[in-house]
Amino acid sequence: MLWRFTERMDRDKVIIDTAAPQNPDANLLIIYTGGTLGMVYDKNGSLVPFDFQQILDRIPSLKRFNLLLTVISFRELIDSASATPETWVEIGDIIFHNYNNYDGFVVLHGTDTMAYSASALSFMLRGLTKPVIFTGAQLPIGAVRTDARENLLTALEIAAAKKEDGSPVVPEVCIYFSNRLLRGNRARKVQSLHFDAFESTNYPLLAEAGIEIHYNRHVIRSLKDNDKLRYSRKFNGQVMILKLFPGICRNAVETILALPRLRGVVLETFGSGNAPASKWFMEAVEKAVAAGILILNVSQCHGGRVLQGRYKSSHWLQEIGVLNGADITSEAALTKMMFLLGEESSDNEYRSRLIEPLSGEMTKK
Ligand code: ASP
Repeated sequence: MLWRFTERMDRDKVIIDTAAPQNPDANLLIIYTGGTLGMVYDKNGSLVPFDFQQILDRIPSLKRFNLLLTVISFRELIDSASATPETWVEIGDIIFHNYNNYDGFVVLHGTDTMAYSASALSFMLRGLTKPVIFTGAQLPIGAVRTDARENLLTALEIAAAKKEDGSPVVPEVCIYFSNRLLRGNRARKVQSLHFDAFESTNYPLLAEAGIEIHYNRHVIRSLKDNDKLRYSRKFNGQVMILKLFPGICRNAVETILALPRLRGVVLETFGSGNAPASKWFMEAVEKAVAAGILILNVSQCHGGRVLQGRYKSSHWLQEIGVLNGADITSEAALTKMMFLLGEESSDNEYRSRLIEPLSGEMTKK
């Protein structure tokens, strides 16, 4: 399905009266999409979304920031397990339409699919000159030991941070979580119980928050003179992730690769990009490539990279035209594929753009 979206204008907008003085250090927009962070316990002890108007009661220390804060809330707050490209586009539209009025953006989002949304937004918002910081929480804001407070406060501080020359410190789409700032399209959720829910194995942390926030400036995207926001909002949903496992059944593989209208597959392979060398499997993949389906080889290993041709078990993939995903995550690979296929291009163009970094999501050899 090709996702095309109409604009939605029926959003709640709340200006948080943080009593910021005349000259705030920064003017930030918070986009509240749902997730655990914004939950409180009701009278019966059940978790329900909380009314953002009351944020100052929950986090009074917000008043001590010299920031002007505005919140735009999704009308229907979602568990991020229900996020779709429509969600990404809704976040993107809000940022795009408010781009000139704010110094930075903080997106409050459930953790489950945050890495997909942050990856998608990194492709939609190219030439970004302002911070877009995703955050959320493992425990709701209404819980005593919540991590929501720290995550939100530090995400705001990072979104507001400026260099000596007044330019933003982090003009990227990032995830801030549990004292760490990660490039959004390098992150993956790895924990459902502990607070440190995200990791970025193949790219260094952009910042670490202790007593002070220490920015690793050399790995943060640097602004170029001609940077200007280029916003795109189309996605093609005719893609799949095919995760290999020993003994994977022929029928399933052949059925998936022959799905009508299928345009792209993220093939999750073993180790440095290896796949079974059984005849039927090779034939099924070859047939799919010949039919014009883009197949991107991404490793199931969290660290390292795909090296097609290192072993005989990956050499054949290279030979038949399977694309090398290098050190990309599956989350970034899938959203990049959906994003690129959303645009009209030639097959050669899709193929060359898939293996080239678009927004810092992969390391070029
Ligand atoms: N299921 C929730 C979500 O992703 C979990 C969370 O917010 O962390 O929306």
